[in-house]
Amino acid sequence: MYKKGIAAVLYNTSTGRGVPVYMMPAPSERSSRMLLIFLTLLVAHSVFGQQSSGSVNVHNILQQDSTTHYEDGIPNSLRRFIRWAPKAELHVHVEGTLEPEMMMRFAERNGIPPPYPSVQAARAAYNFTDLEHFLQIFYAGCAVLRTRDDFYELAMAYFRRAATSRVIHAEVSFDPQTHLSNGVEFDTFMGGLVDAAMDAEEQWAITVSYIMCFRRDMPLESAEVALRLALPWRHRIVAVGLDSSELRRPPRDFASLFDRAAALGFKRTAHVGEEGSPEYIWQALQLLHVDRLDHGTHCLDDPRLMAALNASRVPLTICPISDLQLKVYDGQLQERLGQLIHSGLMVTVNSDAAAYFGSYLAGNYEWLSTAVGLDVRQAARLVANGFQAAFSLPEGQRRRMVDTVRQLAEAAEAEDKAGGKQGEADVEGSSRRRLLTLRG
Ligand SMILES: [Zn+2]
Repeated sequence: MYKKGIAAVLYNTSTGRGVPVYMMPAPSERSSRMLLIFLTLLVAHSVFGQQSSGSVNVHNILQQDSTTHYEDGIPNSLRRFIRWAPKAELHVHVEGTLEPEMMMRFAERNGIPPPYPSVQAARAAYNFTDLEHFLQIFYAGCAVLRTRDDFYELAMAYFRRAATSRVIHAEVSFDPQTHLSNGVEFDTFMGGLVDAAMDAEEQWAITVSYIMCFRRDMPLESAEVALRLALPWRHRIVAVGLDSSELRRPPRDFASLFDRAAALGFKRTAHVGEEGSPEYIWQALQLLHVDRLDHGTHCLDDPRLMAALNASRVPLTICPISDLQLKVYDGQLQERLGQLIHSGLMVTVNSDAAAYFGSYLAGNYEWLSTAVGLDVRQAARLVANGFQAAFSLPEGQRRRMVDTVRQLAEAAEAEDKAGGKQGEADVEGSSRRRLLTLRG
């Protein structure tokens, strides 16, 4: 299925759901404004990626992208902005980027029975009823990760895909207690992850830091052990987080642990308000003293909390397709995300566990754009928020990237004005309604 003027078509191979995927514009189709955007991006890249000695071939990176995209029905200027704008990703679990093909390969080479008889069976199992159901499947996948090479290859595969979404800064979560309980030494997984971070910086000019998440469904003592073992790797671990099952495990149980992490110099974030009530978000703010909130979407249920978040500018790392697949606010998700996006809170967009949910960062922006009706300026605010909310970006780089995003948005808006009504017509097309009903 080739469209006129489209040079290459890359199909969704990760979910088999028949969702349209990115299409490369043919050279003849590239407008002068697109060229301006691209050149601006290259300038930004040269400024931001000074530490990299490797060259970055954007065209080749984009050609490697074979994950789900939701670009159908998005105006051209917005689609191009999402595609080309440099981005920060702040909420992604490296274990959640384990694609089924890699899971099967690691299981075989480590002599571990694979969780599924085939790649197809794995994908068929990724039809989640809720967070608990997802976590069972997620931890089964983690069991195949055993060697330093496993963690290196896993992280490199994520960085390669992140580059296709134009991620240039990533703060990547990992679950040490999961791997320690599987018999993997801390230095084994951390060594692989750090090697991959250095190579990603070299190959794709992505700056990387890690977030060590404590599991709230495991004994507190195992979190204490993980915190102690992390100290030699302190230079690469910027923050601690809190993840896994949320219900019935209030943040207050982890207050003393978070106090110790803060005393050791770690930033703090926590998964709260994904399934849990606003009360858990209050606890994360007041007892864990978090610098960011992961998800946090249920803040919408408490106007006083919304006001507090607006005043404090504590960022939220939302994950739209994760919410969609885990049936958060089931039946009302688009409406609720729309309220959140337009509330003025410091919201950032992220992919969470991309391999299980079928889409990486650009796909999340695309789906969200269609679901809540973003324009270029609103999308640019979300992208800029990603840089503003990052833990480990030097202030000068943060400002430069926010400026670059603004310039790209202005160029895209100018393209919009010059392009007439075509983009608007696309948004109203039938494809939009089809996209909005995608449920996996
Ligand atoms: Zn998460």
